[in-house]
Amino acid sequence: MFWKGRQGSTNVDDRRGISGGGLVAGGGIVGVIIYLLVTFLGGGEIDPNNMPSIQPGNQQTEMTAEEKAADDERAEFVRVVLKETEDVWNKIYAEQGKDYPEPTLVLFRGAVQSACGNASAAMGPFYCPGDGKLYIDLSFYEDMQTKLNAPGDFAMAYVVAHEVGHHVQNLNGTAAKVSQLRQQLSEAEYNRYSVKMELQADFLAGVWAHYTQQKNILETGDIEEALNAANAIGDDLLQKRSQGHVVPDAFTHGTSAQRTYWFKKGYQTGDLSQGDTFNSPDL
Ligand SMILES: [Zn+2]
Repeated sequence: MFWKGRQGSTNVDDRRGISGGGLVAGGGIVGVIIYLLVTFLGGGEIDPNNMPSIQPGNQQTEMTAEEKAADDERAEFVRVVLKETEDVWNKIYAEQGKDYPEPTLVLFRGAVQSACGNASAAMGPFYCPGDGKLYIDLSFYEDMQTKLNAPGDFAMAYVVAHEVGHHVQNLNGTAAKVSQLRQQLSEAEYNRYSVKMELQADFLAGVWAHYTQQKNILETGDIEEALNAANAIGDDLLQKRSQGHVVPDAFTHGTSAQRTYWFKKGYQTGDLSQGDTFNSPDL
């Protein structure tokens, strides 16, 4: 993708330098306790301006200058992709006479707190309907290249666009309907709906790619990178990798073939009415 020099989104909350595990301070909390003890013992008034400051701790090992530069470049890339999704969804919503409430993207490293609970980088990128934010640890970018065999900048762009797809599902009520089913259905039955929802997010990512391509900012091979990523992160492949066999009932995202199919459908048509995975006879 020709992204360098393009405008980035302002809806990014960059928490990469902040530990997600709460306030872990080198001596900070101890400092506060000692301060309080001294205050209580001494009978003095607590002056908020005099409180020792607590700096959020950073549990990560220091990055080299080179690693940091690479990480910052990825952050910049993701910022641009988010802006491109804002352009497309603002336009689509405007055509329907509606406003598009843009989501916030939280960049984190290691662990993060969200309205959906604490999350670690191991979970991969996710969207939290509770706070309407996307969460991405940029190390996933590297995992895609090294562990999932899905290299390329557009593989990462697809992941961002997929999470934005979940935001759209949150806005239009689909997410609420599916989460309601969770109370009513068995796990296996619920998983079928979860797959439909994930495949629809892939479809919506495809719709985004459809409109983004019209701006002539995609490079040869970009769509293949996205399709390859959709293929690489299908549940059947991920499960084979982790368990050695495939258990269809436990699928929550769709098979590699399904993910590729729905992304492609969105990409080729750009037509939202084609993305009703919930009433698709094949699913
Ligand atoms: Zn998803």
